Parts: sequence; C-alpha cells; structure tokens
Amino acid sequence: QSASLYIKDHIRTVPDWPQAGIQFRDITPLLQDPTVFRTLIDVFLARYADAKLDSVAGLDARGFILGSVIAYELNVGFIPIRKKGKLPFTTVSEEYELEYGSATVELHTDACKPGDRVLLIDDLIATGGTMMAGKKLLERLGATIIEAAVIVDLPELGGSRLIESTGLPLFKVCDFA
Ligand code: IMP
Repeated sequence: QSASLYIKDHIRTVPDWPQAGIQFRDITPLLQDPTVFRTLIDVFLARYADAKLDSVAGLDARGFILGSVIAYELNVGFIPIRKKGKLPFTTVSEEYELEYGSATVELHTDACKPGDRVLLIDDLIATGGTMMAGKKLLERLGATIIEAAVIVDLPELGGSRLIESTGLPLFKVCDFA
C-alpha cells in the first residue's frame, strides 16, 4: 500500500493534454527517479517471481519500458505488441475503436507458442481498448495470459471492469478515480 502511494505520488497530471478536457497521467517523473522506478519494478517482480512466465508482452510504447525490465529480471523473453506498420515479419493484427476513429496493433506470428504463459503489460488502462486488442492477439497465437498489469487504472473509464469481465485478472499499482 505504501509503495503504491509512493508510486502514485510521482505520477504527474497534465490538464488538457493531448486535448481539452483530458487529464493526462504522465509517468515520466516516476521513470526519472531511480528510487521510485526501482520500487515500481520491484512490485511487479515480487508479484510475478513465481508465476512461471514464458514471456512478458508489452504494449506500444510505455508497456515496452516496464515489460522489458521485468522480462530481463525474470529471465524470460520480451514480446513487443506494436502499433500498425512497425513489425517487419508476418503479423496478426487487431483493430479497435478509439473515441475518434480506430487504431490497430500487431504481433509477430512467431512471438509465442500455444500454451506459453504470458504477462500482458501497459502503463495505464482507460477504456481498455488497447489491452483488449493485445489480449486478442496473444490468444490468437494460443498463449495463456496469466494476468494483465498496469501502473495506473482509470476506473471511471471502465477498462478494468471490461478486462475482468472476460475472466482475465487485472493488476494495477494505483488508480485515479
Ligand atoms: P485505452 O485503450 O482507452 O484503455 O487507453 C490506454 C492506452 O492509451 C495505453 O496504451 C496508454 O498508454 C494510453 N493512455 C490513455 N490515457 C493515458 C493517460 O492519461 N496517460 C498515459 N497514457 C494514456
């Protein structure tokens, strides 16, 4: 609990960014402070040390920052789930709705094998569209997602409820309600 408050304390709220009315939760102050960053990573390491993961899948782009460090420390592979058009090999892709328009994320077809135990991670969950798309991609390859994890949940936007309604547990370090 105290680690969670300490971490939350280092997330900056930027009003009206990227557009009017949005309160953007910015994790860069957290990453910038080595003690806070280490505290955050240690929360994830403690939680997943015995999870027998095969890999950690990070969502583009801040999921890469967290996911790669966790994968390295747990001595498992890292899988990037990328925005459309960035991955060079054969891919599976999932399109999802945004408030205005849509977005697509992609995954290499050889990123994991059926039955692999994967942790899916991003910095923040809002409506859950991004996390759901990542989940669908991993499931199309037959992966077993053991949990979805974020630093920040914005519960009022419904994403954490959406993810949990599918039966996938969601772990969050803190929330902004
Ligand atoms: P969702 O798909 O609506 O759940 O939005 C989550 C995605 O958008 C994640 O990849 C986040 O990195 C990004 N995002 C949305 N809102 C914020 C925010 O306030 N701070 C940081 N990232 C955000």
